[in-house]
Order: sequence, then structure tokens, then C-alpha cells
Amino acid sequence: MNRTIGFVGLGNMGGPMAANLVKAGHRVTGYDLSPQACERAAGHGVTIADSAVRAVAGAEVVITMLPTGRHVLEAYQELTTAAHGALFVDCSTIAVGDARIAADLARVAGHRAVDAPVSGGVAGAEAASLTFMVGAHEDDFAAVEPVLSAMGRKVVRCGSSGAGQAAKICNNMILGISMIAVSEAFVLGESLGLSHQALFDVAATASGQCWALTSNCPVPGPVPASPANRDYQAGFAATLMAKDLGLAADAAIASAVPAELGRRAAELYATFAEDGGSGLDFSAIITTLRKDHA
Ligand code: NAD
Repeated sequence: MNRTIGFVGLGNMGGPMAANLVKAGHRVTGYDLSPQACERAAGHGVTIADSAVRAVAGAEVVITMLPTGRHVLEAYQELTTAAHGALFVDCSTIAVGDARIAADLARVAGHRAVDAPVSGGVAGAEAASLTFMVGAHEDDFAAVEPVLSAMGRKVVRCGSSGAGQAAKICNNMILGISMIAVSEAFVLGESLGLSHQALFDVAATASGQCWALTSNCPVPGPVPASPANRDYQAGFAATLMAKDLGLAADAAIASAVPAELGRRAAELYATFAEDGGSGLDFSAIITTLRKDHA
């Protein structure tokens, strides 16, 4: 069924996601603080409003794709103009606690709310092949699933409010730690005289196999499509990995879970991002591990 959708945050992810909703036949009105983002989205059939409040006025579904929890909570405080009972869907990556506060804000205003962060990056947003991790009541999940399916390939209900964000930060904690593990192995292999290809050929089909190695290999050569082959440009930015690991580390501290490797990975990525690596793909962490080794 085609819906009237208000979409706030038309950036690298939100822009192509809104475009895919238009392609699927939904009526999408969007807003972004950046005129360039609005212009790009307009080129894909998104009607542009002159404020977030106007973008969601009368909408049955309100989607936010914003940088941080602070942006989402500020937006939720003013987005009361949606149709009564509208379904609020936050796809940003934010803290589990903020996701629960946002859902409460929407419910108090008479709306329904789900958290639905994504995995798959800009390429997945463009190709409508994202994975959505959803925290929602069962009936809200049934309502949101067809909308999310227009933007992704997999939609998983993880539990009630906040569970989508919990799954997202746990997954990215695995990813951040495993990228450091793969990078340390390559750096050690280099110092032992082992070629990148030899280590790859063994580990890719042995028990060291993981996505960080076989899809996003941190050294050039073995996986031609990995960012290491183009000076670590594009891909999943180290600054976003630092943010996600920070959320995971905060959640671990709040839950009294040691998560020693997760917290150490958060420190390494935060330092890497501050020292100039923020815009590079997160696999570029290998360059700092080499420096530390020298
Ligand atoms: P982005 O910076 O490209 O886009 C965010 C957009 O929000 C910007 O265009 C900005 O102008 C807009 N914005 C900020 N405040 C606003 C407001 N009050 N009203 C309207 N617009 C506002 O970021 P992105 O890469 O699209 O990421 C968005 C979210 O998705 C983040 O939480 C990020 O962690 C998450 N995420 C990103 C990726 C990725 O690969 N880029 C992957 C998975 C998840």
C-alpha cells in the first residue's frame, strides 16, 4: 500500500533511501538543513518542504535519518504535526537509551514508534539492499515492514523499543574488533616475511575467515573491491565506526559488561579519527597499527 511519508535527513544515506521510497510508489515529502541534499533528493522525485515540521505534516509515516541521538531527540520534540497515530521510524544510529526516549516522545504525542537502524552503507542505501534491525511492538513491526522493504533486502525484528539499536551496536562492535584483529595479523605477517596474498589465501578459507578479511580486506591486492585498493577512500568512514564503538562502549559501561576488546577498539578508532583518519574507510586503521609497531 502506498503511504504518505515525511522524511527528515536527506544526507548520504537518507537521500537514496527516500529516492527508493519514491520509486516504490510512496508519496515522499522531505527536508534537510543542507540545500544541496534537498536538491539531490528533489532530482529523485522527493517533494521538498521548507521545514521538518512541514515535511511531516499529515504524514502517515515519519522517517528520520540524522547524524546523532541529539538530532533525533530535537526533531522528535517538534514533529507533532504528523497524522494522529503516525508511525515514527528512526533509522539513524543512536544510543539505545536515546532510542527509547525518542519512542516515548512519539507515543506521548499520540504516535507509534520504532527504531530501525541499518547496515549496508551508502551502496546498500542506493541499491535498496540495506539490512534493517528493528525494535518495535509486533503490530508496529507488521506496519513498518513493507515500508522498510522498499529500501532494504532484509528486515529483522530484534525485540521491543531500542532492540534494533542494541543489535546494530553489537554487530558493529564485532566488526570493529575483527577489523583490528585482521589488521594486526597482516602487520605481524609482514614482519615475519609473509606475503599479504599468502596470509589471505590461508585465512580466507580457514578459521580466521570473517567479513573484515574477505570483503573489506585492509591491505591492497587480495580483494580488488576493498577500499585499501583506492587509498582507503569511500566505504564506511572511520569516524562512523568510532561513533558506533563509542555507543557500544557506553552501553557496556552502563550495563557493567567488561567488553574489554570493544572498549579498546573504541579508543583506537577515536584516536585514529582525531589524528586525521576520520574520512577514511575504517580499514585504514591498519596504517596506525603499523606505525605503533615500528
Ligand atoms: P549525513 O551526514 O550524510 O546525513 C545526515 C543529514 O542530516 C545531513 O544531510 C544533515 O544536513 C541532516 N540534518 C542534520 N540535522 C538536521 C535537522 N535538524 N533537520 C534536517 N536535517 C538535518 O549522514 P549519513 O551518512 O546519511 O548517516 C545518517 C545516520 O545513518 C547516522 O546516524 C549514521 O551513523 C547512520 N549510518 C550511516 C552509514 C553510512 O555508511 N553512511 C551506515 C549505517 C548507518
